[in-house]
Amino acid sequence: MAMDSEPASGRRGSSSSSSRARSGDVVQPRHTGVARSLLGAVIETLRVAIDLVLPRTCPGCHAPVPWCEVCAATLQRRPRAVALPEAALDRLAAAGLTLPTVRALARYAGPVRAAIIAGKERGRRDLPPRLGAALGAGLLALQDTAVLPTELWLVPAPTRRASARARGGDPVAVMARMAATVLAAHGRPAGVAPCLHLSGKARDSVGLDAAARAANLAGAIRFDARAAPPPGAFTVLLDDVLTSGATVGGSCEVLAASSVTLGGVLVLAAVPSPQKPLLPVSAHRRPGGP
Ligand SMILES: [Zn+2]
Repeated sequence: MAMDSEPASGRRGSSSSSSRARSGDVVQPRHTGVARSLLGAVIETLRVAIDLVLPRTCPGCHAPVPWCEVCAATLQRRPRAVALPEAALDRLAAAGLTLPTVRALARYAGPVRAAIIAGKERGRRDLPPRLGAALGAGLLALQDTAVLPTELWLVPAPTRRASARARGGDPVAVMARMAATVLAAHGRPAGVAPCLHLSGKARDSVGLDAAARAANLAGAIRFDARAAPPPGAFTVLLDDVLTSGATVGGSCEVLAASSVTLGGVLVLAAVPSPQKPLLPVSAHRRPGGP
């Protein structure tokens, strides 16, 4: 196994590996690093203070609980296959790659959308673990129906390290660790391999169309071999939102180039593709027809 990858609940690895520097750490010039850590400590203290003062309400319905049962239930379902936009599939086909089935727990709308945004942009750091638990339940459901094997390595979709720092941590990596914890609690060994990162070249993708997003990401995803899953491991990519498919497609390309084969992709929520998937001819037959 990869020594720097993150095991779930201590099921893999040893106590010595937990004391090592995380692969996500970046070596900074000393003065910059000190200033950043001081600023980080101040921000963290303010966050804790705000958390203590402000009551947490459900991001989906504003009920006086952090994440109410009704809103949480919108994610308690078997993952559904989603069609990727044509542009993402064309790009992969041109590279000679085939993406495994991409599945989502929900549409990117309503309570799920609100919870993802609150966790990512509004400092609700209690939400990514809750969303990660839903991803874990989705993976369990896919294992129960033999769609996925009982031993998995989870790769969080790449984010920019600077963005993750500014948000007090990478929400998708937090979700992946919680998903692995859920699997481990059910006796299903799961490791987390945070081996993908976005380099500084990647701009924030807000406002870009599908082609521009793919171009923006091309070459910007970096593979960290120290955090890779072990050779031959069954690997599932996890992400919060599927929009253009550029992140999933780019991740698949980079992993393939590093001899990591993706066995599955699971996202919390998907934006419905504006382009309908092409159906095989037999699917166009009318019910009761020849
Ligand atoms: Zn609610």
